[in-house]
Amino acid sequence: MTRALSALLATSLLAGTAAMATAQELNIYSSRHYDTDERLYSEFEEQTGITINRIEGNADELMARMQAEGRNSPADIFLTVDVSRLNRAVEAGVLQPVDSAILEARIPQHLQEAENRWFGFSQRSRIIFYNTELVDTPPMTYADLADPAYEGMVCIRSSTNTYNQTLLASIIAHEGEAEARDWAAGVVRNFARSPQGGDTDQLAGLASGECGVAVSNTYYFVRALREEVDGVTEHLDVIGHVFPDQDGNGAHMNVSGAGMAAYAPHPDAAVAFLEYLASDSAQVYFSSGNNEYPAVEGVPMVEELAGLGDFVADDIDLTDVANNLATAQRIFNQVGWP
Ligand code: FE
Repeated sequence: MTRALSALLATSLLAGTAAMATAQELNIYSSRHYDTDERLYSEFEEQTGITINRIEGNADELMARMQAEGRNSPADIFLTVDVSRLNRAVEAGVLQPVDSAILEARIPQHLQEAENRWFGFSQRSRIIFYNTELVDTPPMTYADLADPAYEGMVCIRSSTNTYNQTLLASIIAHEGEAEARDWAAGVVRNFARSPQGGDTDQLAGLASGECGVAVSNTYYFVRALREEVDGVTEHLDVIGHVFPDQDGNGAHMNVSGAGMAAYAPHPDAAVAFLEYLASDSAQVYFSSGNNEYPAVEGVPMVEELAGLGDFVADDIDLTDVANNLATAQRIFNQVGWP
């Protein structure tokens, strides 16, 4: 049992039933909804006796709601995907620091926000895919995506997408603003088509031959390996993948993460839940629900994901990446990446 949790139970017992009625609840504002999340929540409820209430919705709407509710917000936990959204939650002031020895020990340092206002609990890599019949020599680095050799071949979604914002922010953090701008301009010159659709649509563009090279998060591809995804699954034999920058910074990683709400009415339960998310069994549920890599090392992952192979992951501190998100947005506008 965690320290926060035993403290919680002790307080409840001392304070009697009135306190217990309020202490035995946890309100989660979540923009994540996968089938295995049900097991994630029910296991926590069984282990602790705490009842979870979930409010699900779009991340930005949930943040706006927390801001509007202010000190009266019932939110204990905010859970979402992508560093850029977690960073917006920090900037909106809806999260508070969490002091937990368990989280410090279990979650890799670079996946923790600098002041522990959020923690990454699963990871996805944003990598390069290519049509093996159209492309002999695929790009091996993010920089290669801007190489004139791939003119008219590159499919990647719009700059309004958080995944691309975070990818460019990481390139700025590594290479500086000027080089990142040149890169973005080069990728725009190499577009096979004006950005459209989500990551699955970029993979489908490879299958149809409209795109030679595409950028997608790993879980979209693994989903097509595990279930029928229209326009992708039937053409998997022509789609190859490359984990970029294996001789350099490593492949870009992003997270699903969570933090404690700024005015959490049940702070002990909130910390207990975050600590639970770092446990081995919760890590399996949380990561496999969306075919992601667990944040905690050594936790098993979905077979098809493991089948993509071992790779060097970029371990840049995600707080440093988040600090470059505004610059990334400016660069996208400057280079005309729609
Ligand atoms: Fe996604």
